[in-house]
Amino acid sequence: MLYPMAVIVQKYGGSSVADVKKLQQVAERVMRTRQQGHDVVVVVSAMGDTTDELLGMAKQVSPNPARRELDMLLSAGERISMALLSMAIRELGGDAISFTGSQSGIITNDRHVDARIIEVRPFRVQDELARGKIVVIAGFQGVSYKKEVTTLGRGGSDTTAVAMAAALDAEFCEICSDVDGVYSADPRVVPAARRIATLSYEETQEMAEAGAKVLNAQAVEFAKEKGIAIYARATRGPLPGPDPSSDGTVVRKSPPRMPGTVVGVASEKDVLILDAEGPAADLLALLDERGVSGKQLHVYAGRTTLALSRENLHNEAQVREALTATLGSRVRLGDGLAAVSVVGAGINATYANVRAGSEVLSAVGATPSGISTSSFRITWMIPTNRTEDAVRALHGRFIEAEQPLLP
Ligand code: ADP
Ligand code: ASP
Ligand code: MG
Repeated sequence: MLYPMAVIVQKYGGSSVADVKKLQQVAERVMRTRQQGHDVVVVVSAMGDTTDELLGMAKQVSPNPARRELDMLLSAGERISMALLSMAIRELGGDAISFTGSQSGIITNDRHVDARIIEVRPFRVQDELARGKIVVIAGFQGVSYKKEVTTLGRGGSDTTAVAMAAALDAEFCEICSDVDGVYSADPRVVPAARRIATLSYEETQEMAEAGAKVLNAQAVEFAKEKGIAIYARATRGPLPGPDPSSDGTVVRKSPPRMPGTVVGVASEKDVLILDAEGPAADLLALLDERGVSGKQLHVYAGRTTLALSRENLHNEAQVREALTATLGSRVRLGDGLAAVSVVGAGINATYANVRAGSEVLSAVGATPSGISTSSFRITWMIPTNRTEDAVRALHGRFIEAEQPLLP
């Protein structure tokens, strides 16, 4: 009797496929994985900064581009890399076939530009795997029930990969990038940041939502639901050995850490704070009608405040106009702000961490204009131009000082 081989899903981000040479190196890594006897599904991002470049062109044509048309445009980026990678694998003697999100059965809701995957029907992928093929899938895209092409929000190729891994019952999902795992802060900003060997789904989700780019927050949801392990690794590094946490980060169900331990610091630049007087319902309806999603909503005594991340806000001019037309001087938009956060279970048992963080932020000239907390996170709003110093200061205070490296 023939047993099916274990499926492995590998995702390669934009910097890993930035040019043809890098695509060829990825093709070699895929072939090595295949030669180890696995069924391989590869999810690719658009090459290098393609998505930013496409967005830039759209903005030149229209300040408020139609969301549907943005999806038609942005989804083209991943199509280019999937076809080229498939060709590169074939050049190495592999038998590859590429699929768009729609062809691979990624079904989403109809919320263009930041659609959510609601179902994966991977029949064509399974058929091709059964024929012995390496399947290459365009990340970041799907198709809605209305048969419209959608995209999954910035960083969405991670979501494609993990959702596909869950649907195929994969052994694990490897997220390959220019960094060899999830660090205690962005290693480009904090040279003293440390790679975290293992993370729980919850910790990873909080880090991602707070702005750590290595892994997309929605991706982690799918992994958690099905208990799929995610290996965050460097594309240039080796294939996972018996202990994948030794040279990358493993995200899986993990035993709890000491409550109150800060696992990481993350930041999101370019946040808008919306502060309005009047009925919250009207304001929220206005945002929903325009497809704007916010976070950290507070409604109290006739005041509504919330944070909007600019990353997936492509019709800002239109939203600002509508807000002023409806609410006039009763609405204020705080500009030039960044959100810096520390993440860890039980870090808010007392306000000691909030106080300590506010203090070090003020000391580096990043005096917070707002604070919000959850049981897992403290977020400070600070001036955008102080982001890097703020992240280094929080890392110094909560990680370097608290958890010194053993000599
Ligand atoms: P990809 O194109 O492979 O998806 P991304 O740019 O989305 O890559 O994510 C990788 C980048 O995330 C790294 O280059 C790093 O600078 C940044 N980053 C931010 N926070 C973290 C963190 N906590 N750990 C590791 N990398 C981080
Ligand atoms: N290409 C998309 C982006 O730049 C998706 C991704 O890279 O994950 O956001
Ligand atoms: Mg990414």
